[in-house]
Amino acid sequence: MSGPSALAGRHAVITGASRGIGAAIASALAAEGMRLSLLGRDAAALAQVVEACGPDTAHGIVADVSDQTAVARAMDEARARFGPVHVLVNNAGQAASAKFTETGPELWNRILGVNLTGTYLCTRAVVADMLQGGYGRIVNIASIAGLRGGAYLSAYVTSKHAVVGLTRALALEYATRGITVNAVCPGYVDTDIVKNAIANIARKTGRSAEEALATLVATNPQGRLVTCEEVAAAVLYLCRPGSDSVTGQSLVLAGGEVT
Ligand code: NAP
Repeated sequence: MSGPSALAGRHAVITGASRGIGAAIASALAAEGMRLSLLGRDAAALAQVVEACGPDTAHGIVADVSDQTAVARAMDEARARFGPVHVLVNNAGQAASAKFTETGPELWNRILGVNLTGTYLCTRAVVADMLQGGYGRIVNIASIAGLRGGAYLSAYVTSKHAVVGLTRALALEYATRGITVNAVCPGYVDTDIVKNAIANIARKTGRSAEEALATLVATNPQGRLVTCEEVAAAVLYLCRPGSDSVTGQSLVLAGGEVT
């Protein structure tokens, strides 16, 4: 029989927890007995995830992670409810496909603002708690787009490469402080981001949604989309004591697409 989880009672902040991968991570960490502060912009969707985790276990905080003031306020609210932050999962993200010539400053700043600056702001807002406690787990949900190029994805690829770079830099900066910093790099995962990508491909190429999905699935040697639960399991692994020596790494979940 297994005993109580080593993570029970620890306080985790998960960004972008209102749906998709973030909601699955919330469910996995709640099952460990962790206390969860869940960030997102959609209050109604967040409330559903809080309900599923249990209102004593989780609370929702409406915040745009690209907004410094909103992030500071959100982390104050998180600490007021559950105390110092032990685990941060930087999951909030947006994707957009566009030719480079059509990637104007608005698109560029939005994607970099959420994926990169959001990760920077949230990490800076909680790392003092981790340094003071001598313990922390930071997991950044990057992408295989953080490890290789991709046509028509310049802003997204740039943002995710930068997240991998920040992960590596902070892992070394905090190596002796009880804090690990890692990235999880999935291939295509079955979420709204992929639904939107399918609609975009269908619109631009005239293919059916089934054909567009088949194009995306074909990039994965296992011939399938990655599941949200698989990403959540990787996050859990990086938070558990058995992975204490794993830091600065990019854990690829892509069926062999990147080897
Ligand atoms: P999703 O279903 O579209 O969910 C995105 C989440 O991010 C939502 O909870 C959304 O919440 C939140 N979010 C977006 N912009 C935000 C902002 N400015 N401030 C706060 N929260 C924001 O996407 P997903 O597929 O689960 O993606 C989660 C992460 O995995 C992203 O970082 C993505 O790049 C990465 N990823 C996804 C895939 C994939 O194929 N799906 C592959 C590799 C990596 P609100 O709408 O409530 O704000």
